[in-house]
Amino acid sequence: MRILISNDDGIYSPGLVALATVAMRFGDVRIVAPDVEQSSMSQAITSSRPLLYRRTKIPGFEAYRVNGTPSDCVGLGAFDWGNVDLVLSGINLGSNLGNAIWHSGTLAAAKQAALLGLRGIAFSFPVEESNPDGETDFAPIMPWVEKALVLLLAHTDLRLVNVNLPLNPQGMRWTRQSCREYDGRVVKGKDPMGRTNYWYTVAPIREIDEGTDRWAVSEGFVSLTPLRVDLTDDGLLAEATARHALAAS
Ligand code: MN
Repeated sequence: MRILISNDDGIYSPGLVALATVAMRFGDVRIVAPDVEQSSMSQAITSSRPLLYRRTKIPGFEAYRVNGTPSDCVGLGAFDWGNVDLVLSGINLGSNLGNAIWHSGTLAAAKQAALLGLRGIAFSFPVEESNPDGETDFAPIMPWVEKALVLLLAHTDLRLVNVNLPLNPQGMRWTRQSCREYDGRVVKGKDPMGRTNYWYTVAPIREIDEGTDRWAVSEGFVSLTPLRVDLTDDGLLAEATARHALAAS
């Protein structure tokens, strides 16, 4: 099995090597990642300039860096290597829960795999809470990344999955995306010259619905959320069609 590893934190992220190290037990691994951090870039692709695909030294791995987005990396990586079966993204330095899925570059790499007809799995870890300024130790969660991969790869119909790990996993749970609340917030501030500026940040969500990704991680479980590329709301489509049958008008 050919496994392409990417992320949105950049080619030198410790989470990337942690994920590639686990992935080696499942098949042939190649790393293709952005040359600088691309967090919150979502599914952007670079279409207005050419991209570079440069060999990079990461001990123990064949690795390449791209001056583009996570989606660019998956596209170029799959094109250059060929016959890729699986794309793994992460391990992201920070959770990707609920509506963060819309912004996440980590998820976008897995989604790009799904668009290309490949399997994509994204891994995220709440590093800010555990150690905001230091080097993250991925060793304690690497056995859980392996357990999640064993389970997910056995289900061949799971083509796109969002995996979030808690600080100290106690088990795994199938979950749905928590959508009821959005945590994106704008904060107004001043720069050192006294000019007004703005920061996009997140606010804590208090109400946590049972069965969601946010709930699982808050309870100490590894959250496994199967996703799909088709955003169509089937219920509303049926209702709208019944209310106003356009084909007959
Ligand atoms: Mn990131």
